[in-house]
Amino acid sequence: MSEIEREAMEYDVVIVGAGPAGLSAAIRLKQLDSELNVVVLEKGSEVGAHILSGAVLDPCGLDALMPDWKEKGAPLNTPVKQDNFYMLGEAGEIRVPNFPMPPLMNNHGNYIVSMGNVCRWMAEQAEELGVEIFPGMACSELVYGDNGEVKGVVAGVFGLEEDGSFGPNTEPGMELHGKYVFLSEGVRGSLAKEVIAKYNLQDGKEPQKFGLGMKEIWEVDPAKHNEGEVTHTMGWPLGSNAGGGSFIYHLENNQVFVGFVVHLNYKNPHLFPYMEFQRFKHHPKIADLLEGGKRVAYGARAISEGGYQSMPKMVAPGVALLGCSVGMVNVPRIKGNHNAMLSGKAAAEAAFGAIKADRSGDELSDYEIDVRSGEIGKDLKKVRNVKPIWSKWGLTASLMLGGLDMWTNTLGFSLFGTVKHGKNDAEATEEASKHKPIDYPKPDGKLSFDRLTNVSFSMTNHEESQPCHLRLADENVPLAVNLPKFAEPAQRYCPAGVYEVVEEEGKDTRFVMNFQNCVHCKTCDIKDPSQNITWVTPQGGDGPNYPNM
Ligand SMILES: Cc1cc2nc3c(=O)[nH]c(=O)nc-3n(C[C@H](O)[C@H](O)[C@H](O)COP(=O)(O)OP(=O)(O)OC[C@H]3O[C@@H](n4cnc5c(N)ncnc54)[C@H](O)[C@@H]3O)c2cc1C
Repeated sequence: MSEIEREAMEYDVVIVGAGPAGLSAAIRLKQLDSELNVVVLEKGSEVGAHILSGAVLDPCGLDALMPDWKEKGAPLNTPVKQDNFYMLGEAGEIRVPNFPMPPLMNNHGNYIVSMGNVCRWMAEQAEELGVEIFPGMACSELVYGDNGEVKGVVAGVFGLEEDGSFGPNTEPGMELHGKYVFLSEGVRGSLAKEVIAKYNLQDGKEPQKFGLGMKEIWEVDPAKHNEGEVTHTMGWPLGSNAGGGSFIYHLENNQVFVGFVVHLNYKNPHLFPYMEFQRFKHHPKIADLLEGGKRVAYGARAISEGGYQSMPKMVAPGVALLGCSVGMVNVPRIKGNHNAMLSGKAAAEAAFGAIKADRSGDELSDYEIDVRSGEIGKDLKKVRNVKPIWSKWGLTASLMLGGLDMWTNTLGFSLFGTVKHGKNDAEATEEASKHKPIDYPKPDGKLSFDRLTNVSFSMTNHEESQPCHLRLADENVPLAVNLPKFAEPAQRYCPAGVYEVVEEEGKDTRFVMNFQNCVHCKTCDIKDPSQNITWVTPQGGDGPNYPNM
């Protein structure tokens, strides 16, 4: 592919990904100098099509970027007015009072938003400032300069043959070169992964950790809807099988975001995160809210959970990693959008300074300093031990010791120092023989749904004749290693039913990848116990088409 002749376009800054991080960077660059040439490339069919976030938004990122966001019509319409936290048992719940929680957990002043819509609005602001935004343009390769620096990306390759070769209908795409390239691909970015490996950016840091977030939008009975209500739960149905919990956010128009996160460091390969989510909705408290309503959308996405100690070095020659390509989620708050925005702003300011000083293609170290010692670092440092304490000692310890640690960190010290995460999530998976299979109830089609029916509510679409974008390093591993050792967990951890082991009488067992179903969550790239699957981007415009997630 690299020998293909392509047209090249020159920019000051090339930004990959139109999420909150990339769009904030674009806006800030143009605020600082309207003459800068800035381009944003987005693989979704439109801005927002691949954004799945919740979300309760802490507006501190927007405040810093555009203090007049309210006058400019930002779609932050639902202030949080009630914050509930429950521990669930199978048939009941205990309300955890708000007063012992450290102040950082308080949602007062935050908004329930569709991040897809917030990104659409941010894109309009960016375009008004003169940023060029190209949706439907997947960035599939990095372009390196003579000195080994990142100098650009290849975007817009369409119509490859099934085996990856060029055919009569192939469009080779183009190279977009920049003085600096920003990778704001979100969690487990495919180009960011290459950059982290090439420049050894994770060296000396803890491994990145992840969760799998699944979400449905429900329209509920108006009598049960309480605009502005935010609820988080822990406990049932996961119990001690895995860390995680749910979120239920009442937004406008009688809609409710119902989401469930499963930490991907679970040991039992029989665990089926999607079915845990479906089962959760049958808890009497949740069922009562949803009964009589209808599910209107479904999606899934990994969420970064390593926090402060897992952030890789975020700059290398010519390139900077932004937002969740670094991993900037504050785990106990389940919030990363504010830090994504702040990181975009910080990267833009560093690049602006460098370009004014006639620099290009070098490391934007000022950006890294800003992230680690500024607002983002402060936000993440306070909560750095919550996730590893949870992983090591379980939910109750995490509530007590993690809570204590957040309090002491708020006062400026920690009794624990910095707790290590240990293994990465793939390595955390144990052999199937050590664990019992889990019996999940069949979805009832009213509150719970089978996976493929739900995937159709993500409006996912992939051109079928292109190469499969899920690359196996060794195609024998799924059946020769993962099946006997781990009961091939890809069949269960994928929230879109991409992976199947097909056993038919009289035929050889087959491992099938229905890549057309992929919702771009990246879980397979993270959780495969043999680390044999690499997620690369399919052609632009493919993937989910989320309405207002
Ligand atoms: C279920 C769930 C719930 C969450 N809830 C909240 C919440 O309530 N509040 C909160 O603040 N945070 C929440 N988060 C975290 C939040 O979503 C992230 O912190 C945030 O999305 C990070 O922003 P980003 O710009 O770095 O990446 P993203 O928002 O993921 O945006 C990345 C963009 O880049 C595009 N892209 C990726 N690769 C390429 C490529 N190669 N070429 C072109 N385009 C590409 C993607 O399509 C996407 O549009 C939640 C996350 C999940 C999964």
